[in-house]
Amino acid sequence: MSINCNQPVTCPEYQLCQKCGFTQEAIDQRVMQMGLDIHDKHRIKLLSVEVFQSQSHTIIDNFYDFLMRQPDMKKFITNAKQLKRLKTTQAEYLSRFGANFNTSEYFEYRLRIGIAHARIQLPLHLYLAAYAQIQTLIQQAVLNSSLCENSELIADCYSSIAKIIMLDSSLALDSYIYSTMHYLSDSVEELEHQKDSLTNQLMHDSLTGVLSRAYILDVIHKQLGKLQRDSSFIFNLALLDIDHFKNINDQYGHPAGDQVLQQFCKTVQSAIRQQDYFGRYGGEEFLLLMNDTDPHNALILVERIRLLIEKQKFDINGEIIRFTISLGFSQVRQDDDVDGLIERVDAALYRAKEAGRNKTVKG
Ligand code: GH3
Ligand code: MG
Ligand code: MG
Repeated sequence: MSINCNQPVTCPEYQLCQKCGFTQEAIDQRVMQMGLDIHDKHRIKLLSVEVFQSQSHTIIDNFYDFLMRQPDMKKFITNAKQLKRLKTTQAEYLSRFGANFNTSEYFEYRLRIGIAHARIQLPLHLYLAAYAQIQTLIQQAVLNSSLCENSELIADCYSSIAKIIMLDSSLALDSYIYSTMHYLSDSVEELEHQKDSLTNQLMHDSLTGVLSRAYILDVIHKQLGKLQRDSSFIFNLALLDIDHFKNINDQYGHPAGDQVLQQFCKTVQSAIRQQDYFGRYGGEEFLLLMNDTDPHNALILVERIRLLIEKQKFDINGEIIRFTISLGFSQVRQDDDVDGLIERVDAALYRAKEAGRNKTVKG
């Protein structure tokens, strides 16, 4: 069957048709699947004049009596004003029942209903029960109309009513599912986004933006695992500690101390290489993991950082602050574990402090 549609589906007012893939071809196909044809169009016109004009109110009242008897429907219709509004919507449904069923306008209208019901999360079984009920009520109304004399016509009208109800419920389900899937995929996207942001928070220190303690310790743990599997893989670790940092806080205030930590981290980050990891171990102590570098070159790198800090004039709100750092350094061995390794660089750092600070000591 081919029925022409005057309005193009691409019209922006038929957005749901577009979203659910109802081109005119798909509309025609759905109409054909439901067995609807030109004969149904004539009967629908007949029903409009002979049944709905006089019995619409009775059908609607009976329909809502049925719905209100359903225990799980009660939470969707909570007051008289809402019930009145729904009855008006249902009256519109009957006044347009099946009219121009092969047009994008009709499909759009029916798809919109499914979206509205998905939004309130009306259970599908209730939805289908309601369609079954409205079908029964319309068919009963046919028996109470002037058409009741003609049994052949009654059978045909019953068939047209069933086909329209089936078309309407299929469209409502299409958009109901479309809407639910999109709601779900939006929720999944939102969860992914939250997960990324949480992962990012866990990975980074909130004050300085460098790697967090947990993350850098985890990196060291993983690198040790790699080293245990492959002895040719080398890396070195340094523990950096700002000298007399307490004095900076005491002299310029804690917020200025925070800014010093931030600028210090930026300076170190600008000096290290892509393959290195820099993280905050705690307070004013930082870990620097230098990958794929022999101890000689790693020492050159940490010494360069120490001298860079020594020379740097940190501008904190117009105040020039200068300080130095002490470092404990060690090449990582194949039999190291995280705790033992940290202990060794910490002991080296302690010796650097003992030796007068602003030094790198190898452990
Ligand atoms: P040393 O040369 O022996 O390392 O002396 P120090 O003063 O640097 O070391 P100490 O351990 O005595 O003091 C560290 C100070 O760092 C004390 C603490 O208040 C401060 N601190 C730790 N975390 C932060 C922070 O996030 N912001 C600020 N502003 N200060 C911090
Ligand atoms: Mg310190
Ligand atoms: Mg310290």
